[in-house]
Amino acid sequence: MEGMPDYLIVGAGIFGATVAERLASAGKKVLVIERRPHIAGNIHCYKNDNNGIVVHSYGSHIFHTESDEVWDYITKFADFNDYTHTVNTRHEGKLYPMPINLDTINLLYETDMSAEEAEKFIEEEARKDVERLGIKEPKNFEEKGISLVGEKLYTAFLKNYTEKQWNTSAKNLSAEILKRIPVRFSHDNRYFMTAKHQGIPTGELGYTSMVENMLDHENIEVRINTDFKNLKDDIPEDVKIIYCGQVDELFDYELGVLPWRSLRFEVEETDKETLGEAVINEADADVPYTRAHDYKYYQIHQPEVIEQKTSIIAREYPADFEKGGEAYYPVDNEESQKLYKEYIELCKERFPNMILGGRLGAYQYWDMDKAILNALELAKELLKK
Ligand SMILES: Cc1cc2nc3c(=O)[nH]c(=O)nc-3n(C[C@H](O)[C@H](O)[C@H](O)COP(=O)(O)OP(=O)(O)OC[C@H]3O[C@@H](n4cnc5c(N)ncnc54)[C@H](O)[C@@H]3O)c2cc1C
Repeated sequence: MEGMPDYLIVGAGIFGATVAERLASAGKKVLVIERRPHIAGNIHCYKNDNNGIVVHSYGSHIFHTESDEVWDYITKFADFNDYTHTVNTRHEGKLYPMPINLDTINLLYETDMSAEEAEKFIEEEARKDVERLGIKEPKNFEEKGISLVGEKLYTAFLKNYTEKQWNTSAKNLSAEILKRIPVRFSHDNRYFMTAKHQGIPTGELGYTSMVENMLDHENIEVRINTDFKNLKDDIPEDVKIIYCGQVDELFDYELGVLPWRSLRFEVEETDKETLGEAVINEADADVPYTRAHDYKYYQIHQPEVIEQKTSIIAREYPADFEKGGEAYYPVDNEESQKLYKEYIELCKERFPNMILGGRLGAYQYWDMDKAILNALELAKELLKK
């Protein structure tokens, strides 16, 4: 790129790529920097050339949205297959549909109830357990769970899974986390039941090819292996910065560390086992990981990839977050929100030309469609000025 860009975008994830593409298409010069050795952020995929399996580097990503605007936008950069996500959960050696539906209930209780019977039955189970355990106003996650679906369903599918995720007893977790448990009194086992559009990109490298197409524009320059901290003192004042990284890290944690939960993936190439589906959750305490992913099952547009004996299986282990580590899920509570607001004020003061964006900059969990929608909104705002 000759001369200075109009915008510097820090982070080549889906949020940064969407803003970059929109600004570049409106004639703005955009420099995108990314400190990892690859683009696409957490939706990055790579292909194993031995077997053609496209691996999701940071865990399974299924595109799903209710928004036509997002779908019309993203399908300019990728074709999607018709994959519809379903998940089974293993409990005491048996598989159950997840989220909980009529089949989950009948399998667990070894019954054959109709939808109406099951609804009444679960209501009654919850009422009896609440009374027996003397739960008045649920004070924590455990009491809330039991009051919503009864102790048996709660213990089988929620308790241990949640305790593994948060590395603490469900009694220490706030009842607030659990507003409701999506129980369906039908046979519908689609994981994203309300998604109007859903699928997996069919390009050579999945989501990576999609982001590559977004960034392939004459007004965009991309530099990987480039950390903002090494450039921050040399940026002219008239360059606007969109920062998609962690704000506490930007200021060297001077006000404190924003808490996150992290994950660790153990990836194995094997021809000795297959999950037979893309994701299996592990509900029990004696299995230390929460999910296993068998990535080939996303490639329904390539039956030969699925039919081969080889699988690439990733086991997902929840992990404590340490400063400088991989941030996956923000720990959302009053204290962390207060600290985040203090960082926003600090950011306004020290970098008046900076906008915080993306899931890391916003300190929020966003699905991909939300990240795209927010990026489209931001680009519209910027182009109005
Ligand atoms: C386990 C898991 C599974 C998920 N599954 C789904 C799913 O099935 N469907 C779905 O819709 N969503 C899913 N999501 C959400 C999805 O991952 C996010 O919506 C998406 O990654 C957000 O993109 P982003 O651009 O905001 O952030 P990111 O992808 O994190 O991109 C930010 C980029 O900024 C870079 N960066 C940070 N600091 C600096 C710096 N100082 N200098 C240079 N670069 C920097 C980072 O390296 C990173 O590449 C999942 C999330 C998790 C945690």
